[in-house]
Amino acid sequence: EQKPIGSRERTREILAAYGLTFKKSLGQNFLTEPTILRQIASAAELTTADDVLEIGPGIGSLTEQLAQNAHQVLALEIDQRLLPILADTLAPYDNVTVLNQDVLKSDLATLIRDHFDGQHKVKVVANLPYYITTPILLRLLESGVTFDQIVVMMQKEVAERLAADPGSKAYGSLSVAVQYQMTVKLAFIVPKTVFVPQPNVDSAIVSLTRHVTPPAVATDEKVFARLVRGSFAQRRKSLWNNLTALYGKDSATKAALTEVLAAEKIDPGIRGERLSVTDFVRLANAISAHAK
Ligand code: SAM
Repeated sequence: EQKPIGSRERTREILAAYGLTFKKSLGQNFLTEPTILRQIASAAELTTADDVLEIGPGIGSLTEQLAQNAHQVLALEIDQRLLPILADTLAPYDNVTVLNQDVLKSDLATLIRDHFDGQHKVKVVANLPYYITTPILLRLLESGVTFDQIVVMMQKEVAERLAADPGSKAYGSLSVAVQYQMTVKLAFIVPKTVFVPQPNVDSAIVSLTRHVTPPAVATDEKVFARLVRGSFAQRRKSLWNNLTALYGKDSATKAALTEVLAAEKIDPGIRGERLSVTDFVRLANAISAHAK
């Protein structure tokens, strides 16, 4: 019986056998604690009814846990050097496909359609490369794929932004974008000591579950997304200043905005961070309706 890929000994052996050096620029901090790897898989409540997309398999430590618990696993890894290593470490698992792809350039909807049978739930489980946590999350949310659950490790600060309530310092466009689709749960904090090499920040596992009944539905999601981003563009400025910067400062636009805000009983003098997800949806829907 071989030790798990993510055990200290096995990881050290694999790195030595291939002479692999870490690429800091790719956010390569490998998890070397089988207990935590198992906790990530169990936070995703994986069963053979699930297909899993993994981003950044590294040397396959988390992938192994996913392969042992899920139906099919598709893993996207940007670093070509890791492909032969993964072919070797994951050889015992016939339900894993690894593709040499940049998650920020890949067409996720097509990949998932081509690799999964459509008969299983689709989940994302990953220990994310931290330098692109936010773009990856936005890409997952905007991919058009209805992921049932997303369980991802990220830097603690970003996890707090995802879970933030309106009015708090950490609340921003990312909080709104995520909470619009998903319920956010901070599963647990992971100390930096379990990674090689050690990152500078502590990490957190976040579990996002799709709302069964969405609290609010935007009639036009592009209008909603643009409104949310625009409302936080200058955090210190009022909603009014951000909205006129976004939509225009001419008198017709100002009159239309005044009308919409009054109808929705939203004070133009407040800051965007005061608005809940539902407030943003109401406002976006009123703007969409007005534009017609
Ligand atoms: N899953 C492994 C683990 O838990 O030990 C490695 C996680 S490491 C934090 C992040 C991984 O993402 C690295 O393997 C890195 O090469 C990969 N990566 C970085 N940027 C990527 C991108 N744009 N697309 C796909 N993978 C990427």
